[in-house]
Amino acid sequence: MKGKIQRRINRPMPGKLLIIWDFDTAIGQINSTMPYNFRYDPIYEEIENVDYILNRAHIEDIRMTFACVGFAGESGVFPFNIPDIISKISIRGHEIASHSWKHEWFPYLNEKQIYRSLERSKQTLESCLGPGEKVSGFVPPHSRPMSWLKKYSVSLGDRGLYPFHKGSDIGYIIKELGKLNYRWCRVLPKYKPVWEKIKGNQSDDSVFFPVWETHDNIVCVPSHYNGFDKAAIDFVKEAVKRNETAVISGHPAGLSRDKEESREYFDRFIDKAVQLRDVEGLEILTVQEHILKNLSLTEKKTEN
Ligand SMILES: [Zn+2]
Repeated sequence: MKGKIQRRINRPMPGKLLIIWDFDTAIGQINSTMPYNFRYDPIYEEIENVDYILNRAHIEDIRMTFACVGFAGESGVFPFNIPDIISKISIRGHEIASHSWKHEWFPYLNEKQIYRSLERSKQTLESCLGPGEKVSGFVPPHSRPMSWLKKYSVSLGDRGLYPFHKGSDIGYIIKELGKLNYRWCRVLPKYKPVWEKIKGNQSDDSVFFPVWETHDNIVCVPSHYNGFDKAAIDFVKEAVKRNETAVISGHPAGLSRDKEESREYFDRFIDKAVQLRDVEGLEILTVQEHILKNLSLTEKKTEN
């Protein structure tokens, strides 16, 4: 124990880890999987996996961020409406963020729909929280739009073109978030201008920590990796080495799949994160905590 404390003192700036869950719930799963294949099992499994994550977090004393679909917070019928589960996540000390109201494809929405989805999801999710607690983060469903016009970055995969589709520009969404008193938005780690995409020069550093930017008063949180396998662990190790912040995302539903978000990988990832925390002093935080604690002072520098 003494050794541990000694090493923490030696490393005053040991890196940070933020874990963000895309908690799609029933309506999110319906809207994100290939349409018209419907089964209840994955919906129940996702809810069981949330319990598993909460237990593991409790045992290890870790707090994370859960981006929830607003419709799940409305009162109604299980497993479609689960306000009690959202309350439980919050009571356990985790952050609740918005993952839209019904897991929409934002590039297809009109201006009013964009505003209402952001507004209603925030209101509904906040009704599941304790008094005075706020939803301050937004995680775009389907990670769309991937275009950011201000950075000359266009993704044809958004399937909508600005200005006909306002929701096909993450810059537009960020402006709307600002109007609704959100504080942060998850974004891609890198937006490449169109000409770089055409050139196709792909010699990127695989472990890359971009500078965090603030636009329209919204902190843009770059997600580095989706999953918990070796690549995720490498990000966290590098964050510790370079005193950076690793942002790792996953889906509770993914714990049941035999891929990079599997329960086995998740358990190993948490083992490693806890070890880095106890030995090297890695800080494991919610996004909100990180912004309040570490970012507010330096933020002005990155405003542009
Ligand atoms: Zn999602």
